[in-house]
Amino acid sequence: MADASNDALFERAERVIPGGVNSPVRAFRSVGGTPYFVARANGPRVWDVEGTEYLDLVQSYGAIIAGHARPEIVDAVRAAAGDGTSYGAPTLREVLLAEAIAERVPSCEKVRMVSSGTEATMSAIRLARGATGRTRIVKFAGNYHGHEDALLADSGSGVALLDAADTVPGSAGVPASAVAETTIAPYNVVPTLDDTVACVIVEPVAANMGLVQPAEGFLAGLRAECDRVGALLVFDEVITGFRVGRGGAQGRFGVRPDLSCFGKVIGGGLNVGAFGGRADLMDHLAPLGPVYQAGTLSGNPLATAAGLAALSLLDDAAYELLDQRATVLAAGLQAAFDGAGLEARTSALPGLVGLYFGDHQPVDYVDARATDEAAYAAFFHGMLRRGVALAPGAYEVAFPGLAHDDGTIDRIAEAAGEAALEVVAARSGVGTPAPG
Ligand SMILES: *Cc1c(COP(=O)(O)O)cnc(C)c1O
Repeated sequence: MADASNDALFERAERVIPGGVNSPVRAFRSVGGTPYFVARANGPRVWDVEGTEYLDLVQSYGAIIAGHARPEIVDAVRAAAGDGTSYGAPTLREVLLAEAIAERVPSCEKVRMVSSGTEATMSAIRLARGATGRTRIVKFAGNYHGHEDALLADSGSGVALLDAADTVPGSAGVPASAVAETTIAPYNVVPTLDDTVACVIVEPVAANMGLVQPAEGFLAGLRAECDRVGALLVFDEVITGFRVGRGGAQGRFGVRPDLSCFGKVIGGGLNVGAFGGRADLMDHLAPLGPVYQAGTLSGNPLATAAGLAALSLLDDAAYELLDQRATVLAAGLQAAFDGAGLEARTSALPGLVGLYFGDHQPVDYVDARATDEAAYAAFFHGMLRRGVALAPGAYEVAFPGLAHDDGTIDRIAEAAGEAALEVVAARSGVGTPAPG
């Protein structure tokens, strides 16, 4: 078959797709090498076009929580597709999904579906501004909220790897006017606000600068400071929603935001986002109110079917498993690093594992960016050669899910032990070509 190799396909892709990819981090530029092209996936595994199998910790950056091609989700999508793929009219499943979200996340009295996490945060910001009549927004350095103009500045994830990472607005093509009303604050410190602030948007657990957990009192402090000046508190739970607990990070940490943004898990691997919050706020949206927001594919039949199927798999037992597996994986990786004498810290929350190549747990973006990117790249390739796929970027987290059974996690930990030794050996010059 022509173009059956990863390298040949990447070359072909580069001719018609900028950088060969539809989302920058996938291009492997920060870790080196060329990406594998996925042919298919099942449970914790993906296979590339060359037939190589990987134990996958990317899991679509968290859009997959129950493993790839989970039969209940595949069946739901197939059944929905047979009845038509989009109508431009309301459907029962949209109501069911909004009810399912509201039932799990009580702060979301009303919910609106969109097609991506970016759309969710963008729409929530517009709503916050429209509802308060204020314009300033406050975001935290290292938090990623999608690629909306006003929110890209000092973002984590792939933005952290851009040359423009340390500048505001963070990307070329974003006019200064688009960020003129954006204030950036350090994560884990409650900023002092004033009455020009429409909203504070925050990742309640930061998962786009590695994994940075909220400091004791940070989220509650934000709630109190927003209340003091009449600003809205927006939780971006695009990663944490329905992952770190049934009620997301807000359920886990017991802080109630005014608005919440979702994506990833609630689409079951299809194109979905959602935002929700207090009914009186949500009712500022058209057609009830003056804040316009719309979408041809919003509430899409396939996406809502997949999302409902995914949520129905996430019962209490599932969250216990997600917790246990992340904990065991983080411990296994930590043991691998410690055993090899490689300075690194792991951390875990249900369904999330962070890797940090440094001597302490990072608490903010300055800390997070001090991770040893070269060590990550070397470890990444050591793992890939041993059949374990991590995300090809030092600021992404690993996403162990329901399909990562004990045997899978053991194999990953074993690979990590070998890969960590290899990184250390390469550093001390053993087995590496002479420089020059
Ligand atoms: C992935 C992500 C987004 C953006 O979602 P997309 O579906 O990629 O647009 C927003 N916020 C957070 C916290 C994310 O992790």
